Amino acid sequence: LPPLPKDAPVGRLHDGTYSRYAGASRFHQLPLSSKTTDALSEAKFVAMTDIQRASLPHALCCRDILGAAKTGSGKTLAFIIPVLEKLYRERWGPEDGVGSIIISPTRELAGQLFDVLKIVGKNHNFSAGLLIGGRKDVDVEKERVNELNILICTPGRLLQHMDETPNFDCSQMKVLVLDEADRILDSGFKKELNAIISQLPKRRQTLLFSATQTKSVQDLARLSLKDPEYLSVHEES
Ligand code: ADP
Ligand code: MG
Repeated sequence: LPPLPKDAPVGRLHDGTYSRYAGASRFHQLPLSSKTTDALSEAKFVAMTDIQRASLPHALCCRDILGAAKTGSGKTLAFIIPVLEKLYRERWGPEDGVGSIIISPTRELAGQLFDVLKIVGKNHNFSAGLLIGGRKDVDVEKERVNELNILICTPGRLLQHMDETPNFDCSQMKVLVLDEADRILDSGFKKELNAIISQLPKRRQTLLFSATQTKSVQDLARLSLKDPEYLSVHEES
């Protein structure tokens, strides 16, 4: 673990657990690698948003998360940062293959996540790939996919690799992210998601984020999360 920042606040998480980071309001108060904090401050990310404050102290100690917060509340950093920190702490390297899989409902949103990953992960040495189908040549992808550490994908394309790519190996992966889970389910990807989750190792961290808490999101959470932290952040009105 990186050393404890000198001004790390001490407090209680909402579940009563004691954490030095529960009261943190700025990224630099969290136990992050300097590779991550440097990139965050260069990108002018200083104060955390509410969902980031609520979820990062849990996610950074490897708990599963079900996070609900409206669009525009900053959910992307709430999972990109824990993914980078987990692989960094595990000293993940090029030869270790797929360490994290991030699933997004659409090609466009997946592309936006990839852009954020490039900014926040720029000082790390992980390889990342955008697997989203469309006009991209799947055969070229098949040869390279095992060399990637972080996969950002749409459900259909990921399942295509699981079904068709010889030696595709995610048996060592550590962190699964389901972003915009409500939209993934609304787009009719429930069967694909279940098939994907059944092929992933059970010992992993899962971060599930959604704008709304629907019945189908709850079903997905039951299937994919272990003893999760339920975090729901609403605007004061
Ligand atoms: P969501 O996924 O919840 O819809 P995003 O992660 O896409 O939200 O973030 C929405 C916007 O807020 C983006 O432009 C992002 O750069 C910005 N943002 C996220 N976190 C912070 C932060 N801590 N400080 C300033 N801006 C932020
Ligand atoms: Mg989002």
